[in-house]
Amino acid sequence: MTAAPHTVVEDYLDGLLTRYGDDDSGAVADYIPQLAAADPTRFAIALSAVDGAVHSTGDDQCTFTIQSVSKPFVYALALHYLGREAVAETVDVEPSGDPFNELSLEAETGRPLNPMINAGALAVHGLLAPDDGAHLGGFARVHEGLSAFAGRPLGVDEAVYESELATAFRNRSLTNMLRSYDIVTGDPDQVLRGYTRQCAIEVTARDLAMMAATLANGGVQPLTGEQVISRPIVREVLSVMATCGMYDGAGDWLARVGIPAKSGVCGAIMGVLPGQAGLVTFSPRLDRHGNSVRGVQVFERISDEMGLHLMEVAPPARGAVRHEHVPETLGSRAAEVFWLQGSIHFAGAENLLRSVAELGPGEGKVVLDLTHAYSLNPVSQLFITQAARSAEEIGRDVEVIDPDGLLGGQDTAEDWTEPDWIEPDWVDPDWSESEGTDQVADPV
Ligand code: GLN
Repeated sequence: MTAAPHTVVEDYLDGLLTRYGDDDSGAVADYIPQLAAADPTRFAIALSAVDGAVHSTGDDQCTFTIQSVSKPFVYALALHYLGREAVAETVDVEPSGDPFNELSLEAETGRPLNPMINAGALAVHGLLAPDDGAHLGGFARVHEGLSAFAGRPLGVDEAVYESELATAFRNRSLTNMLRSYDIVTGDPDQVLRGYTRQCAIEVTARDLAMMAATLANGGVQPLTGEQVISRPIVREVLSVMATCGMYDGAGDWLARVGIPAKSGVCGAIMGVLPGQAGLVTFSPRLDRHGNSVRGVQVFERISDEMGLHLMEVAPPARGAVRHEHVPETLGSRAAEVFWLQGSIHFAGAENLLRSVAELGPGEGKVVLDLTHAYSLNPVSQLFITQAARSAEEIGRDVEVIDPDGLLGGQDTAEDWTEPDWIEPDWVDPDWSESEGTDQVADPV
């Protein structure tokens, strides 16, 4: 794990620890006897960059069981192994507005409303179970998968596992109900055991920050470089986290904090800002929704002060494209030069398309310079190609500078073909954006 150098970020996180450290409201989850014994004063904050550098403070090396924070990862693994269709037959993606342990099922199909509540997570865990009657359902796949997200082999807290299993009356009844609806098809006891063990996987706040960074980084574990899940799956998982991750507090959370997140009764909250960062808090006292009291406060404050709300309106097109008219000089013709910078998406590429269309016929050549572009998504590949074509059609000479081959290796205007529209492939993790090597140029 990369230790980030000490910067003002550490000072800021230390300040939050001091500011909220005295708040002892809320209560530790006690329906799992072993969790009731957790030290309620523990408090950690970890903030990960997408390159795997983690800033952290407080009890950041202290281990705890992952509990419900495992749910988005296991949902991701089910999508990865089985594809979207099979998963959608088992679980819906609608917010339930109910507490996490409610039997919230769709009336017609009996599917749990979403994979972030216990009923949904039990059903999803069941999907990963092999047909060989293994003692622990899909646990082996889950354990291996979660370790891949974290970038290290994770342990299991046997005492918490035994303790929860011995008192899992409610989850047992949920699993049996799901079995009666044929949503769980195998042995319900096996699914219950596997799911309970999934919740007992041990992590630190820094581990969770790395797991969050893997999601923020499009499914690529920043340190091992492994593409654990594909980008379309990350998108699906983050969407479900945004709408369902904080249970019956999910709507309020999205409006106030605006970071897709998942909480657990261990007292952790894990937030993911796509392309930017992972944020994790750990503090075991919970509010009435089952979310960490101090964690919610820290998230609200960081989101506000660091401008992390997902719906914050940013002007990406302005920064992505710069246009300059270079007048004729001795020995070289006038040119309209367009510099594309950073990661180009719809807004930047549309801006380029329009600016080139507004040029009209003229003597000067048109230069599209992608030297400082970092990545192009499919729509921006198409629009940039079209921008070059339209300049040619009005008689301009066009020069494209694309040293990293972001347009797909076609660097002369004559033999450009339109890039294929890439359909998200749910099972195959090979889909990725064309990416250049200029890591530093990627603005966040
Ligand atoms: N293992 C816990 C349960 O199933 C997880 C719940 C949670 O973290 N919200 O009840």
